[in-house]
Amino acid sequence: NSIAEARRAAASPLFADLDGDIGVSFEFFPPKTEKMEAQLWDTFHALEPLAPRFVSVTYGAGGSTRERTHATVARIAKESRVPAAAHLTCVEASRDEIDAVARDYWDAGVRHIVALRGDVPGGAPYRAHPDGYANAAELVAGLKAIAPFDISVAAYPEVHPDAANATADLDNLKRKLDAGATRAITQFFFSPDAFLRFRDAAAAAGIDAPIIPGILPVSNVSQTRRMADMCGTAIPAWMVALFEGLDDHPAARQLVAATIAAELSRRLYAGGVRDFHFYTLNRAELSYAICHLLGLRPVASAKDQAA
Ligand code: FAD
Repeated sequence: NSIAEARRAAASPLFADLDGDIGVSFEFFPPKTEKMEAQLWDTFHALEPLAPRFVSVTYGAGGSTRERTHATVARIAKESRVPAAAHLTCVEASRDEIDAVARDYWDAGVRHIVALRGDVPGGAPYRAHPDGYANAAELVAGLKAIAPFDISVAAYPEVHPDAANATADLDNLKRKLDAGATRAITQFFFSPDAFLRFRDAAAAAGIDAPIIPGILPVSNVSQTRRMADMCGTAIPAWMVALFEGLDDHPAARQLVAATIAAELSRRLYAGGVRDFHFYTLNRAELSYAICHLLGLRPVASAKDQAA
């Protein structure tokens, strides 16, 4: 079976047998301050030459970043040839409001939406807006009725906390794809076997759309723990142990972080994965290093070629 094969292949030296054909995408969050904005564009320009299949920009809880997400995506769409995707959630907005945001994206030339339910700010149980989309599957159908968007949706190798069980969660993923989404991007995870098992279970359930693993290069365990608690991702004890004693050693922490993310990517690669989505947290170095290990090299931009 594929997990046993993955284990065997994982015994080979670091990224020894790369066969090319890697596709990557990068996720950013919309900046709040001028300084953060400068950091985002530095990051974008550092990663852009790796020719990502797309980059995406998140949408803050409850639509709190509506304008900033739009401005960031619209600037990428205007200034770069990299396709830009906008995240959009159903939280605290009516269908009309969400549809208006989607139409604005279409009019700005944005063709790819990452369609999500979202979470209620403050961690309360999810309640749909009375005139809103109840969940991501409804949002996908609503978006498709507006324009022929390319739509990505979320998937959960370790099961979403609101799902009754893993089968119900897979049924939900299938509903989102049947409603018109073309790919799923997963929540971050640290167990390659969890992802490979999930991919195989999805295939057995008749899902043939690509399921792209979301890679979070971790360099701050306590920040990651907060994010993981919200989304049901397990933080393995080995990872906590590897970061122990490094609080005052930022450079060593970065090296450990790179090693962990590289090992995860290597084992996914060995399991047949060729597409990777990086949660960059608006920093380039770790994602760039892992892409390099995966064999990606900068492509000269049209501007450089013309010079
Ligand atoms: P859904 O697919 O609607 O499902 C959520 C849960 O409810 C699932 O467990 C599902 O099984 C269950 N469910 C749904 N419909 C039904 C039904 N009819 N009956 C029974 N159960 C049902 N959040 C943001 O706020 N902004 C972002 O930009 C953002 N980007 C993300 C990007 C990725 C790649 C991922 C993986 C997550 C992202 N999130 C973001 C987080 C996401 O909004 C949360 O995980 C949220 O709790 C669930 O969203 P969803 O789209 O997966 O919801």
